[in-house]
Amino acid sequence: MKAVRIHEFGGPEVLRYEDVPDPKPRKDQVLVRIKACALNHLDIFVRTGIPGVTLPHILGSDIAGEIVEVGEYITGFRAGQRVLLAPMHFCNRCAKCEAGVQNLCREFTVLGNAVDGGNCELIAVPAVNVIPIPDNLDFNQAASIPLVFLTAWHMLVGRAGIRPGQTVLVLAAGAGVGIAAIQIAKLFNAHVITTAGDEAKLEKAKALGADHVINHYKQKISHEVRAITNKEGVDIVFEHVGAATWDESMKSLKPGAVIVTCGATTGPSVSFDLRFLFMRQLSFLGSYMGTMGELYEVLSHVFAGRLKPVVDRTFPLRELRAAHEYMEKSHMFGKIVVNP
Ligand SMILES: [Zn+2]
Repeated sequence: MKAVRIHEFGGPEVLRYEDVPDPKPRKDQVLVRIKACALNHLDIFVRTGIPGVTLPHILGSDIAGEIVEVGEYITGFRAGQRVLLAPMHFCNRCAKCEAGVQNLCREFTVLGNAVDGGNCELIAVPAVNVIPIPDNLDFNQAASIPLVFLTAWHMLVGRAGIRPGQTVLVLAAGAGVGIAAIQIAKLFNAHVITTAGDEAKLEKAKALGADHVINHYKQKISHEVRAITNKEGVDIVFEHVGAATWDESMKSLKPGAVIVTCGATTGPSVSFDLRFLFMRQLSFLGSYMGTMGELYEVLSHVFAGRLKPVVDRTFPLRELRAAHEYMEKSHMFGKIVVNP
């Protein structure tokens, strides 16, 4: 099959379109022909080098496609079925997996991170990863769902415990995870404030349901949040930007509020005053992916049309390098998808 692999860590130039052997599915695996694979910032982190990645390596976490072959130990699937893949790998037999918290499994990783991903034509995966999709979702839309909607659901629902009527600040509306968070917060009838770097993105954020938008290049986020909330601050800050926004996120919190974070796109090191943390009784929550139960829960809302994936643009798989370069410019609103 064709695949894009990295043989060394580095810039977009290390992405190499080449022939690799077809995967040979085990009897307990499903072989899927990949029709679409969405990009995530994780792809850039893995490409530039993080521990646990063995080379050569295939990137890509968010996969949609068609079943080619079903292992003889598996029931309930058939060749030709349209599916998406749960974007994660876990042992499926430890205490955490059995308890349904797969993202605390010692073997837990994201597809395309410590295991090969979907920037290729075929992938063999355990049946637990395979989820049929409805006909009204095309493959590009389906590939744009799993990682960001699962991440945003786990952050807001699983970790922050969002409740109706709360006020939520969602940073970076144009990011896939921001797009998911705005919609999920609105599903809970929350009041949503969001940020973006240009007017076109701010308009699209409003169209998704955001109640207030802040241009983070022209306006100071915490000042605007204070003005919008009558000096009160927000209940939840949805963080994934990291160093560039952390101080503004802190200043936007009301007493007793929560920052929940899943990323550090602009840098991982931040500092804060411990007195601010304890006197205002704040909670800082880390969040990583989510559970299989949460994936099914959020997918039920996507499949029913209450939450909508947003595709920014597509590239052929052989042009993955151009897709990475495009993502690094951060001009997108929604997901970038490659097609084998
Ligand atoms: Zn496990």
